[in-house]
Formats: sequence, C-alpha cells, structure tokens
Amino acid sequence: MSARILDGKRVRDEILAELRPRIAALPRPPGLAVVLVGNDPASEIYVRNKVKTCGELGMFSEKLTPPASISTGELLDLVRQLNARPEIDGILVQMPLPAHIDSRAVLHAVDPAKDVDGFHPLNAGKLVENAPAPRPCTPNGVMELLRRNGIDPAGKRAVVVGRSDIVGKPMALLLLHANATVTICHSRTSNLARECERADILVAALGRPAFLGRDHIGPGAILIDVGINRVDGKVVGDIDEAAARELASAYTPVPGGVGPLTIAMLMRNTVESAERRVR
Ligand code: NDP
Repeated sequence: MSARILDGKRVRDEILAELRPRIAALPRPPGLAVVLVGNDPASEIYVRNKVKTCGELGMFSEKLTPPASISTGELLDLVRQLNARPEIDGILVQMPLPAHIDSRAVLHAVDPAKDVDGFHPLNAGKLVENAPAPRPCTPNGVMELLRRNGIDPAGKRAVVVGRSDIVGKPMALLLLHANATVTICHSRTSNLARECERADILVAALGRPAFLGRDHIGPGAILIDVGINRVDGKVVGDIDEAAARELASAYTPVPGGVGPLTIAMLMRNTVESAERRVR
C-alpha cells in the first residue's frame, strides 16, 4: 500500500489565502502581541516565524522581550497593559516560561477575548461544552488538515497519545465533538501498542522521537504526527516514518505536516478576534 502524504504546507497556504480578504475588509489591521521571556532558542524561532507571518499578511505585530529575570508580578502587569490596548486583538505568551514564573497565573491574566492560543480556562471550558471560542492552534490545525483532506472522524476510532493541556487534551475533545470514538493514552497507559494499533486515526503528541512504530500502527491507519523532536540537528516526529509509509493509508510528514498549521491557526484566531472586536 502506498500511503498518502497529508501536506500541511498546502493547507496552511489555503488558510492564509482565505484570511487575506478578511484582513483587507477590516478598518484597521489585526494586531498580535507576542511576549517572549528570556532567550530560549527554540522559542525565538517560533516567535520569529509568527511575527514574519503577520508581516506577510499585512497584520500588525509587536514583540515584547522581557529578560528571563522578570518576576511574575511584572509579567502580569505587562499582560494587563496589553489587555487594555485597543489595537491589540491577540496576546500570545510564548511557553515555556522560566521556572520561577507562575505560568498558570500569566495564562489566566490574558483577556479571554484576546486569548488567541485558546489556553484561558474560560476558553478551555467553552471547548469542553463545544461552544464557539478560540481553539488551541495545534489541535485545531489538525482538524483543518483532516477536513481539507476529506477525512471525517465521525464513527472512527481515534487514539490520541499525550494528554497535555495544549495538544493532547484539546485534540481529544475536538475529535470527540467531530463524533470520533476517542481514547486518550499517556505515560501510564498499560499497553500502548494494543491501544494504538486499533486506531483508525492515530494522533501522536508525546514528544519522543520515532517512539511509535510498527507495533503501534494498524493497517490502513491515518497517522497524525504532532511531535517535533530535535535529534542530531534533524527534526523528527513521534512516529517512525518508514513504518508509517509502509502501513498507513495516510500520514503527516515531519517537518511539513502539522507544524505549518499551528501558525496558520494562530493567524486565523487573531483575525477572528479582530473581527469580533471591531464589530
Ligand atoms: P508534553 O511533554 O506536555 O506532553 C507529552 C504527553 O505525552 C504527556 O501527556 C505524557 O504523558 C505523554 N507521554 C510521554 N511519554 C510517553 C510514553 N512513553 N508513552 C505514552 N505517553 C507518553 O508535550 P506537548 O503536548 O507540549 O507536546 C507534544 C509534542 O508535540 C512535542 O514533541 C512538541 O514539541 C510537539 N508540539 C508540536 C507543535 C506543532 O506546532 N506541531 C505544537 C506543540 C507541541 P503523562 O501526562 O503521563 O506525562
């Protein structure tokens, strides 16, 4: 069987192209503030790409780079100032924050209307009840990738490996709302291979290079690899690509699969926030 490659760059380009006329129709450019604390090299790359994509779309972006020594109180003040600025529609605090900072307090301080990451508990609650609200970008990007490749999760067995607040949990909820039968696996799952092998749609978000292989992939499965792991200067996913190619019916490559969609969905959340706020 030759597996279909689910091309994230194509879907990203489609989503960004759809945003352009919406941005042009607004009375002012949508504005995104990105807060990058300290100088974590991976975070710097992510933030640079977000700012660059804003520029390409004609959106306003502002990068704030407080030093790693900033206190929780000072960071909360900074977030509150951004909450109050009318031209800022989206606020993103790049994670992870330095260990001495109370990350949860910072995420809770972001105005839920400007929470373009979808991490605020109010928006997380709306995700649980399937009410409209900004959705976390990476799992929402996966849903777009499925939809735009004609893959309907309804009635399918979906297995999500990973239960983080930013990927695994919201991913499972989005698949559930799309009427999949969902299983969530994690580090205490007793027989991971048995659970995974039954999946029609297998989402890997565990952060372990090529951890899921032949034993985990049922014949004809659809594989979504969220993992981004750096090994010897190369980026690899959580699924063994050779096994994916051989056994799956479709899979996302790493890089070029899920990764490009995260920024596209961030842009869409920011444009939608601007549309709501200028109304
Ligand atoms: P976390 O480290 O927060 O969560 C990892 C999850 O995987 C945990 O729930 C953990 O279980 C589970 N896990 C870890 N090891 C195993 C194992 N051996 N067997 C089963 N489950 C396991 O990671 P994130 O959710 O933040 O990210 C996951 C991956 O996705 C990373 O590679 C990250 O780089 C990538 N990522 C990619 C993005 C993109 O844009 N494509 C965006 C965000 C993340 P437990 O809860 O029991 O500890």
